[in-house]
Amino acid sequence: MRDFMTFDELQLTDSLLKAVKAEGYTTPTPIQAKAIPHALAGKDVLGVAQTGTGKTAAFALPILQRLSAKAPAGGARPVRCLVLTPTRELASQVSDSFVTYGKNLPLRHAVVFGGVGQNPQVQALRQGVDILVATPGRLLDLIDQGFVTLRALEVFVLDEADRMLDMGFIHDVRRVIKVLPQVRQTLFFSATLPPDIMDLARNILKDPVRVEVSPASSTAETVSQQVYFVEREEKRALLTHLLQDAKTIPRALVFTRTKHGANRVAKQLTAAGVRADAIHGNKSQNARERALDEFRAGTLRVLVATDIAARGIDIDGLSHVFNYDLPNVPEQYVHRIGRTGRAGASGQAVSFCDSEERAYLRDIERTIRRSVPVVADAAFRSQLPPPLPGDVEESRPPMNRGGGQGRSSGGQSRQASGGGNGQAQRSGGQGRSQQPRPAVASPAAGPSSPPPRRTMSKWG
Ligand code: AMP
Repeated sequence: MRDFMTFDELQLTDSLLKAVKAEGYTTPTPIQAKAIPHALAGKDVLGVAQTGTGKTAAFALPILQRLSAKAPAGGARPVRCLVLTPTRELASQVSDSFVTYGKNLPLRHAVVFGGVGQNPQVQALRQGVDILVATPGRLLDLIDQGFVTLRALEVFVLDEADRMLDMGFIHDVRRVIKVLPQVRQTLFFSATLPPDIMDLARNILKDPVRVEVSPASSTAETVSQQVYFVEREEKRALLTHLLQDAKTIPRALVFTRTKHGANRVAKQLTAAGVRADAIHGNKSQNARERALDEFRAGTLRVLVATDIAARGIDIDGLSHVFNYDLPNVPEQYVHRIGRTGRAGASGQAVSFCDSEERAYLRDIERTIRRSVPVVADAAFRSQLPPPLPGDVEESRPPMNRGGGQGRSSGGQSRQASGGGNGQAQRSGGQGRSQQPRPAVASPAAGPSSPPPRRTMSKWG
């Protein structure tokens, strides 16, 4: 199977092609090019791919196509496709993708996860649902109460299987699998394939096609990454300072956590002489398109965005992504930095981490399975020293390998527990090397910043 093909060559229906093009996608990602033909043909698929590779569309597009080929004749609509995900954030994202790609199709979707009231979810299920996205705990609760039956299921997707096991959901997953019809299509996605995952895959897949995208081509690997430890109130000055260098930073996308934050940062930059605009959900469609057009054309150098507003945005030649705020969902980091370094081009991701965000950084490093080099900077550094390996870990609840949070936490959210606060007792900055000036690497020239003084703890 060739990696490089067009969406037209994948033989998707016009409705899906339209939806994909509306998202701004021009070519399928490697996992899409490899998996979609097999999934469309009804084969079981073992997909080895990380978040950020476009794996959601790799299963969502063929599922939408196959289910819409024989839409139900009305009346009660049994669940025909189940997508199981380990966290509620991922469940929401996957569900959003089904909504986006399926917007021209008459299929119904719903998403269920724990941590919120179940009544609206039950209401949605009562109306009939073709595609259900769920975390295991809440799904089992709803099955036990008779609100979900999976007898008519045609397609089962297990997403992020390795994380599912890491989080202790293996028993729940097995219980769900037991109630699925034997005859079905199964699409199994995992970033890694340790022995316990292979065992599970062997048990639930029939004659699968294995498709794989090598980690070397995954987003997090091709983008050069740096983090500054900087206090919240210093972030603005640091960003303004770094963005002065128009030569090495021809086009930068800056991420903030909130819409308000995006507006504020864009205003502050502009006031400081770095013209910037913001896009987020409160801006009119016209204003968003205008800003994006300018950014694409290169007349606007800096765009500040929230995660939602930046979804699906694909901009050629984006040299830098700045994480003004670190995302609290680690996958979001991968999505964000995946905006740069596209199609083999090099890119630079620069993150600002204040003392409240240390736990987020730890989660991110765990997810991308590498440490992010720390840039030492005399002018803007945080009062707190970088955490030593294990510091942040101690101040947070452990990752619940072994099922610590049990079933009903199927949709638990990740929360920082103030990893930085635990550091406050330590004396700040002693014995740390100080570097003369902050610098952001140019993607073309390679890192121009001083070598990292130390890196954070390694995650396997
Ligand atoms: P995923 O790995 O499914 O979480 O997708 C990562 C990001 O890639 C999402 O923001 C998608 O909107 C985006 N994406 C998926 N497929 C494509 C494509 N063919 N071209 C450009 N972006 C894509």
